[in-house]
Amino acid sequence: MKSLIKRRELGNTGLYVSELSFGAMNLRKLETEEEALDILNYVLDQGVNLIDTARAYSATNSQGRLMESEVLVGKGLKNRNDLKEPIVIVTKGHSYTPEELEENLFTSRTKLGVEGKGDLKIGNNAVILVYLFHGLNEERWATMQNSGVLKKVQEYKREGIVNFIGFSSHYGDTVEIKKAVDTGLFDVVELPYNIFNRSLGEDGELNLLKYIHDKEIGLINMKAFNGNIMPAIYNVIKDFISIDYPTMLNFCLTNPYISTVDAGAMNVEQFAQDVKVAAGPRLTQEEITKFKQEADKISSLLENICRDCLHCVEKFQCSAGIDFPAIMALYSRYTVSEKLGRDVTEFKERYKEFALNASDCIQCGQCVPWCEYKLNIPEVLREAHQAFIK
Ligand code: SF4
Ligand code: SF4
Repeated sequence: MKSLIKRRELGNTGLYVSELSFGAMNLRKLETEEEALDILNYVLDQGVNLIDTARAYSATNSQGRLMESEVLVGKGLKNRNDLKEPIVIVTKGHSYTPEELEENLFTSRTKLGVEGKGDLKIGNNAVILVYLFHGLNEERWATMQNSGVLKKVQEYKREGIVNFIGFSSHYGDTVEIKKAVDTGLFDVVELPYNIFNRSLGEDGELNLLKYIHDKEIGLINMKAFNGNIMPAIYNVIKDFISIDYPTMLNFCLTNPYISTVDAGAMNVEQFAQDVKVAAGPRLTQEEITKFKQEADKISSLLENICRDCLHCVEKFQCSAGIDFPAIMALYSRYTVSEKLGRDVTEFKERYKEFALNASDCIQCGQCVPWCEYKLNIPEVLREAHQAFIK
């Protein structure tokens, strides 16, 4: 079957990737391995040839089962004997020193089931392995420049342990993103961008998406739907805007600087909707202007709120045992609802269900460096508690 999804160049890697790709982060939230394999099979059947995962995308689900995205992606590929082209596997690690890189990279290869050097395989399928430094920021970039990890990763690339290298980053780290891009070392960059937050694109002081594209570096767009918090927030804002999920995705797909938009579906139906958008027409300039104006009315409500991305707990746990991302995500929904004049009783009731709540926070601040959105977690928790109990 010919794929309905068009291909775009992934920078100067020589690869052409499907402009819609699969973000495998949410596989860790599924209840069973079968559900994960169903999605992966569907994704591959649609001609998607880039899957984006990470060492840190693992969690214990409600059944007490450890769901590791890399393991599931590896199994999904190993099960297939009909793939006609190499699949690009992007994985990421919190690897800012040579020692961390060695440990994380070889663990990722084992978890994914990648074998070989140069010509890599998972099972019988050829794969291209792209390794990204996960979540580059000021502190991590400073470590990377002095630790020798940049030299080490190039050695691994020369040896064919990985095929291409790059980094992911988030809003607020534009200086480091540009510095890292300017080294000329990286083949691929992964960044957030969506209709509600265009700060790394056309709204930034420098349009980093264009800058990266013009340097012939592959660009993976994450958070097209504004992060994991969006489904809950969307229920609150949907009556005020005509921007729906297909529009959010189409907005990113319409950006010419992006190589691929990574969509993190939780089931086949969700990804089928994404495929339909990818196969359809792009937005016109008039539509883009109209939707941007609409989004801007809502964007201020979405600033400085927890996105429920769970990046903070990938390598960190609160020593006081507080499930702070869950409390903060609930508070995000509370604040948006309140600003829109909606009933917030439901959120107050749900707050009562936490065994340890925000008032149990000892304000140690240890969680702060782990928030990808630079939220002052103890301060937000203080605010949240006041709001929930008033
Ligand atoms: S500041 Fe509060 S939430 Fe953060 S680690 Fe300390 S006790 Fe936990
Ligand atoms: S506290 Fe920060 S890193 Fe953690 S889930 Fe919220 S936005 Fe994401």
